[in-house]
Amino acid sequence: KLPTVKNEPNFNYAPGSPERAALKKALAELEAAAPFEVPAFVGGKEVKVSGERTEQPMPHNHKKALCTFGTSTPELASQAIEAALAAQPEWEAMPFNDRAAIFLRAADLISGKYRAKICAATMLGQGKNVWQAEIDAAAELADFFRFGAAQVEQLYAMQPTENSPGVWNRTEYRPLEGFVFAVTPFNFTAIGGNLVGAPALTGNVLVWKPSPMATYSSWLVFQILLEAGLPKNVIQFLPCPNGDATISLVDRVLSHRMFAGLHFTGSTHVFRHLWQKIGNNINNYLSYPRIVGETGGKNFQLVHPSANVRAAVTGAIRGAFEYQGQKCSALSRLYVPKGLWEGEGKFKEILLSEVAKITLGPVTEFEHFMGPVISQASFDKCLSYVEKAKQAGGEVLAGGKGDASSGYYVEPTIILTKDPRSPTMVDEIFGPVLTVYIYEDDQFEETCKLIDQTTTYALTGCIFSDDRAATVKAGALLRHAAGNYYINDKSTGAVVGAQPFGGARGSGTNDKAGSMTFFTRWCQPRSVKESF
Ligand code: GLU
Repeated sequence: KLPTVKNEPNFNYAPGSPERAALKKALAELEAAAPFEVPAFVGGKEVKVSGERTEQPMPHNHKKALCTFGTSTPELASQAIEAALAAQPEWEAMPFNDRAAIFLRAADLISGKYRAKICAATMLGQGKNVWQAEIDAAAELADFFRFGAAQVEQLYAMQPTENSPGVWNRTEYRPLEGFVFAVTPFNFTAIGGNLVGAPALTGNVLVWKPSPMATYSSWLVFQILLEAGLPKNVIQFLPCPNGDATISLVDRVLSHRMFAGLHFTGSTHVFRHLWQKIGNNINNYLSYPRIVGETGGKNFQLVHPSANVRAAVTGAIRGAFEYQGQKCSALSRLYVPKGLWEGEGKFKEILLSEVAKITLGPVTEFEHFMGPVISQASFDKCLSYVEKAKQAGGEVLAGGKGDASSGYYVEPTIILTKDPRSPTMVDEIFGPVLTVYIYEDDQFEETCKLIDQTTTYALTGCIFSDDRAATVKAGALLRHAAGNYYINDKSTGAVVGAQPFGGARGSGTNDKAGSMTFFTRWCQPRSVKESF
């Protein structure tokens, strides 16, 4: 039996605390030593990729790069696949307890020895403030590895209960036959870790293409896994810039006969494109590949007339603006009843006064609630949506501007709309832009139906209500509108083991990261009947 697992407690980095001092030191050291040169890692060794190098800029100070990396070529991808496949028999044959121990050890390295470094890398490279980096790169990443080991143990223990005399029925949880391709996002260091960790825990070998905007922290996670004892050939690491280079690399990987699974977090558009490519190659594969993806979100918060207004405002601010709205789970459309909206001490007044208090600034100064968005493209997209909202008749209640001269800063923006199908109510923006729609107090059920009808992504959603009957009604009407649904809490912040994460419709395959069932996707069970 593996040790009992608990969620990693969060540090608070209070002024004067040793944790704060350690993190400040790690930030200073990384900044001084940057840019790091991140290699590829293929066949058990670092490979210096020649040709043009790409920078991963620091979003809060984009003239400075955190790291540079080369362009992994299709030829290197082919070598990586062969190396992974060669490693498969030994990795698969390793007793599960030994595989699990590697991940438990990696979790301890993350929450201990490397905590400050990996948080600092996530802050500098992905524009997270200290708290957001802590809950991601320290706590959630360690949780994924620890809970993952326990969940796989639980899965393997699921065995047939029916045996007739002289017969023993059992299930062997084999890994997939072939390799898994992990394509990981910029917005959570922990998700990158889980996308490679979950298949590896169940005995799979992998080719990993990290987001170019999270190359450095992904490399650190990989180094930690190696230090924890991961055999060197189990994961192949292929950094690559976006665009044509990635397309050629992906084409090569997805055309291999032994491609057995895609583990993806990123945009809906890219996921659909990869799915199509896999479909086009289907006759070439030995097996039907597993396709597991978590993609876009356009998450809602519904406020019932009975709601506690302060709690609902806090939920809206935290859901929409923490990490600059760049969580897949971030809030971007808010439905408030007319009776609660305007007037002294009402929703609008509290919301706007709270937004006015938000400070925006470099992640290295610990006091800011918000930092930069990830890139110039993201900055431009946010501001272009403010224009689209205005053209559609929306009123900008707060923010709406940005400054990308030193870092990619977009103000926390609130738009009021009369059109629940206007662009900022339906399109994913992935930035700090929240749109509010006011509904008539007696139109609660109609509003639930409206939310459902306008939900093309169905990742997260939340309701604030003190009326239990209304809560039940909304729960039924919004049953398919969110894979993670929060009652009297914000739409973000799923915790491993507590709120398994993922959504359906355009948001992904809803395989629920952080749960035991997630691991079934990375297994190819064999039923064995033995008659004595
Ligand atoms: N699990 C995170 C949350 O609940 C979001 C993950 C994501 O952005 O993909 O906030």
